[in-house]
Amino acid sequence: VAANPGEPEFHQAVREVFDSIAPVLAAHPEYADQAILERLVEPERIIAFRVPWVDDAGKIRVNKGYRVQFNSALGPYKGGLRFHPTVYLGMLKFLGFEQIFKNALTRQHIGGAKGGANFDPKGKSDNEVMRFCQSFMTELQRHIGPDIDVPAGDIGVGGREIGYLFGQYRRIRDTFDAGVLTGKGLGFGGSLARTEATGYGAVYFADAMLAARGESLDGRTAVVSGSGNVALYAIAKAQQMGARVVTASDSSGMVYDDAGIDVELLRHIKEDLRGRVSDYAAQRPGARYQAGAKVWDLAELGIRADIAFPCATQNELNEVDARQLLDGGVRAVVEGANMPTTLEATHLLQENGVLFAPGKAANAGGVATSALEMQQNSARQSWSFEKVDAKLHDIMRDIHDTSLDAAARYGHEGNYVVGANAAGFEMVAEAMIAQGVI
Ligand code: NDP
Repeated sequence: VAANPGEPEFHQAVREVFDSIAPVLAAHPEYADQAILERLVEPERIIAFRVPWVDDAGKIRVNKGYRVQFNSALGPYKGGLRFHPTVYLGMLKFLGFEQIFKNALTRQHIGGAKGGANFDPKGKSDNEVMRFCQSFMTELQRHIGPDIDVPAGDIGVGGREIGYLFGQYRRIRDTFDAGVLTGKGLGFGGSLARTEATGYGAVYFADAMLAARGESLDGRTAVVSGSGNVALYAIAKAQQMGARVVTASDSSGMVYDDAGIDVELLRHIKEDLRGRVSDYAAQRPGARYQAGAKVWDLAELGIRADIAFPCATQNELNEVDARQLLDGGVRAVVEGANMPTTLEATHLLQENGVLFAPGKAANAGGVATSALEMQQNSARQSWSFEKVDAKLHDIMRDIHDTSLDAAARYGHEGNYVVGANAAGFEMVAEAMIAQGVI
């Protein structure tokens, strides 16, 4: 903490991993001898830069841009870019640190990184977003490449932003390196099913978790937070698998739809119109909007639910929220977002027998499918939706089984937090030891 002051999210992410891996360290004294923990918490490289751009009124604006290249023991750096006003170095260090273990669990040979800027795309015109992306990439392009570091999207960075970023990279480098970014448009090297992958993957993980106990999603009631890329496709897949998803939200409020969220309407409002969940409620008969509310207060909604998918942002589910979920009958929590549940809430849920799937396992489908996009780019191929989706499904089952197995090996049967951290950590530690002190 003293060495990394003012970075509470990073401390929280490190604490969660360190709390889990005591039995791994006890079984592997060489990890301590090799200073694996001390090396792991220090990013291999941090790039920080100025992002100047001109708004529609002709005024010069300046944002802070970053790329944290955290660990490349398993492969080229890989991780998303976040554009959100709350972005600062500590947040990207937390996300980059998580990404190391998540990427290991996918077994796709990718290292961990994260980047972004404290830029707020909300309320900006397409031209402003384009000029911002061009300025951001003018600096970032020096530090990335298909075998070096391959960024992707995250909060505030979707298909539109990736397109602008790719265009500027190609212009400056004078080469069509499709593999330098993932989440690209389908016409220039993007992969089918990448847009859906994180949300679908989280539901595949939930399904595997329930199947291991002889249960399924069919007939279950689910609450989902968020209404962005992850939330939207988690809702879609959960409903395809027979669940009824009754909520969505954004930073302004939440919508409750007893008939089950109409995914196509929500997708249209979010992706085509860049609207809000309040617009959904206004257009959908029977849906109810509550400004400023979260989706976890089931008593307030007057419902019981079986499963919760936090898919918005970090620390959106605290101890009070966890208590509300427990009181409302929830028996499984699957993190679609990164670290959406506080440590206290996680412990409370686990102590009460809730099946808890941590983000670094449950939301790994996005980055795994990005790695599949990289494979297609290298081979100059485009696979069918079904082929990519089937591979994603296999990868999620494997992450589930690997996490469950590691939990059992280290004496924490059924604890996916311990399992995912232990399994990811082992893979990275072994590669670091094999590659010497670097
Ligand atoms: P989007 O920008 O598409 O959507 C984010 C959603 O969360 C929006 O509905 C947003 O509402 C809401 N949100 C953001 N901040 C808050 C907040 N402080 N309080 C309430 N709601 C909030 O991002 P993604 O869906 O891509 O990402 C969501 C989460 O999933 C993040 O934690 C991200 O790191 C993680 N993730 C994403 C992956 C991907 O492939 N996209 C892969 C793995 C993890 P609003 O519009 O009001 O801001």
